[in-house]
Amino acid sequence: MSYSHLEDTKPKARRPHRCGLCGRSIDKGESHIKRVGVDDGDFISFRMHIYCESLTKDWDYMDWECHDESEFRYYLDKMQEHATAAHPPSPPLESHTETSCPV
Ligand SMILES: [Zn+2]
Repeated sequence: MSYSHLEDTKPKARRPHRCGLCGRSIDKGESHIKRVGVDDGDFISFRMHIYCESLTKDWDYMDWECHDESEFRYYLDKMQEHATAAHPPSPPLESHTETSCPV
């Protein structure tokens, strides 16, 4: 088992593709990552959403080997929940500080 990475490009889809990470569609005209490599002598290309690819920056070889689309979608949803939790719609808190305001 050997894999050599050749290049990543960021083309716009000329026809719909399927994201190799989450399994969801990459729409026609959508910019995405196209990764090209040689796997055991076979020329392969692998397309991914830009966002999906950004989540794999700290993946090691085993993460790629064990990658599972449904697990990745679960992970994606977790990331989105986390992003929402990090920026919650701010509730009006002013009422709590009014009494300490001398104006
Ligand atoms: Zn994707």
